[in-house]
Amino acid sequence: SPSNPVINFGAGPAKLPREVLEEVKESLVDYEGTGISVMEMSHRSADYTKINNDTQSALKEILNIPDNYKILFLQGGGTGMFAAVAMNLIGRTGKADYVVTGSWSKKAAQEAEKYGKSTWNRDPEASYLYYCDNETVDGVEFNYIPDSQGVPLVSDMSSNFLSRKFDVSKFGVIIAGAQKNIGPAGITVVIVREDLLDYAMPITPTVFDFKVNAGQNSVNNTPPTFVVHVIQRVFAWIKRQGGLATMEQNALQKSTLLYQEIDNSDGFYQCPVEAGCRSRMNVPFKCKTPELDEQFLKDAKALNMIQLKGHRLVGGIRASIYNAVTINETITLVKFMKEFRHKHSS
Ligand code: PLP
Repeated sequence: SPSNPVINFGAGPAKLPREVLEEVKESLVDYEGTGISVMEMSHRSADYTKINNDTQSALKEILNIPDNYKILFLQGGGTGMFAAVAMNLIGRTGKADYVVTGSWSKKAAQEAEKYGKSTWNRDPEASYLYYCDNETVDGVEFNYIPDSQGVPLVSDMSSNFLSRKFDVSKFGVIIAGAQKNIGPAGITVVIVREDLLDYAMPITPTVFDFKVNAGQNSVNNTPPTFVVHVIQRVFAWIKRQGGLATMEQNALQKSTLLYQEIDNSDGFYQCPVEAGCRSRMNVPFKCKTPELDEQFLKDAKALNMIQLKGHRLVGGIRASIYNAVTINETITLVKFMKEFRHKHSS
């Protein structure tokens, strides 16, 4: 009924913590008594410099990022960073290795082809080994960090960033678009090891040059100041919840609830992903028939459970359960799945 609270299972831009949205409502009009909105302030002002630095410090603390890494806030989205990664790194040896596990790593590999040779065969001479930690469309997630055998490891963590602890020191570069777990669209967080800042191709646009942006503390040109402010509040929210340990526990619990219902449905629901590499963030599944998928989405929407439609490339249903989606919201979906199954399995 319309009285049910809306539950947003969108894959991105995705649900943000309600608390954070309430907080930023205020700074939208008047940032901490300055009389201006955070989106109206100079990116070179003392106020924004503090927001920029504090946001980086919070991330450094949450992820335990070593001192020999730079944190960048860049524009251009995940897609922009597909190009940026190649342009900044592939010049080291002229080639790079891409592990293709789904549609986003495939796109990244195709983009890299423009700037050098991208291969899939674990070349020890590769400038870097690239993989996507969580394939948002396909629902495939790594549950370990691949061994790159000395080759700098690059990972796209756009859709599972800050959902668990991991050892940053194993990586050369990490990219993560904000619009899933950390804020509004408009920023991609880049974490880059300092020794990798020296290989940018001369054609690299300045806005994508990691070294220039590291040297300028991500204010070489105008950043989306409001977006960074929201990200700062999301980082503070994560810390209040108990940090990555809590995010990880919740992700495991929520995804397990969904996969259990799928696996115990006698084939009524099917998830195409093998159990060992199922995503804790994006759960794709199908009903027995496409007609039932349609009915499922319609009935869910009538109950205010929204943005459950599978990606246009794969169809079916996809429940995205990022950090801001609560355990109770997930339980509500699982209850609906059970009711729907009972109603339609005769
Ligand atoms: N990488 C992953 C894992 C994604 O899920 C997405 C978008 O959903 C992208 C990259 C592309 O990000 P953008 O749309 O910001 O270019």
